[in-house]
Amino acid sequence: MKNHLSVYIHYPFCKSKCPYCDFNSHVRDGVDHERFLSAYEKELEFFAKKIGPKKVTTIFFGGGTPSLMPIFLVEGILRKIAELWGMAENCEISLEANPTSSEASKFKALREIGINRLSLGIQALNDEDLKFLGREHSSKEAIATIEIAAKIFDNFSFDLIYARPKQTLNHWSEELRRAINFGTKHLSLYQLTIEKGTKFFTEFQQKKFTMPEENLSAEFYEMTNQITSGAGLELYEISNYSHKNFECRHNLTYWQGGDYLGVGAGAHSRVFLAGEEKKSAIVMLHEPLSWLKKVEEFGAGVQKLEKISAQELREEKILMGLRLREGISSEFFDKKKLLSLANQGLIEIEKDRVKIADQARLLTNSIIQKLI
Ligand code: SF4
Repeated sequence: MKNHLSVYIHYPFCKSKCPYCDFNSHVRDGVDHERFLSAYEKELEFFAKKIGPKKVTTIFFGGGTPSLMPIFLVEGILRKIAELWGMAENCEISLEANPTSSEASKFKALREIGINRLSLGIQALNDEDLKFLGREHSSKEAIATIEIAAKIFDNFSFDLIYARPKQTLNHWSEELRRAINFGTKHLSLYQLTIEKGTKFFTEFQQKKFTMPEENLSAEFYEMTNQITSGAGLELYEISNYSHKNFECRHNLTYWQGGDYLGVGAGAHSRVFLAGEEKKSAIVMLHEPLSWLKKVEEFGAGVQKLEKISAQELREEKILMGLRLREGISSEFFDKKKLLSLANQGLIEIEKDRVKIADQARLLTNSIIQKLI
């Protein structure tokens, strides 16, 4: 919808750096949160003038670890967004949280100031794997936090990482069933990937651990989809599962090509600025202090702002839309290519929609490359 806007707030700090993480997260002592609040407010004001009137339908606090944000900071940002644009009545307001007891003690206050969806970074339900993943919490803490979240939030989700070194299908099946039994209506389930520039990348190259073979990864995925579906959690995106109407609406904005503004260090935006025919792609400065200083001086910490061409927009629509189980309109594609991929069993064409075939979902990226 043209007059809708999603807002992403990036909080770039964490207690420690996880060895698999390639997000824009930094470990810093003594963050001046008052100063950060002024900067977030200033950057929001800057873009409110550029974007013009809209209705904010979703807000997402991501990171980093946004559950480390003091309450006044979250509250101040929400107040500013409401003042600048106004929020839709059923605005989805999500916040990512890590499951330590100090963070869980903030959940009630977060709910009271308007957060209505919590996304917990659980990652594993056993201590050995949590240690391997470099997480700060124990499985006991993870479980206690899920139970607290379930009492306070109707809408909460948690992330798990699977296809870990040494993990067997049986172990994962048992762990996933335990996770589902907590009654969550949304799960994000990611296979462990080794990203360049992470500690795991170096350790993997030094052969300190091995990763599951491709065939086993496919079995993990298939089993995951069967177990979740049996529990009423339907896959709606490659790694996301939910009960009906509990899909993350904020992430759907990305995948369906809606307008979103990203505020904070390293945040990305895809948004129509007032009076412009082309969408703008905006990236903020990555390093938190550089971002902060630039906002203080110029009103926004923009590193790059460019207009997206019609061809780029089409490619993005394909790239994002095919991640969704519902797929996208066939108008974006060359019919010959579509038929060839359909004959290979890689995609399905239903009426005027194209989607990745269920059995080929793990090949999504290479299928998209072929289509683009
Ligand atoms: S807590 Fe999340 S953002 Fe922070 S280092 Fe770990 S994985 Fe990255």
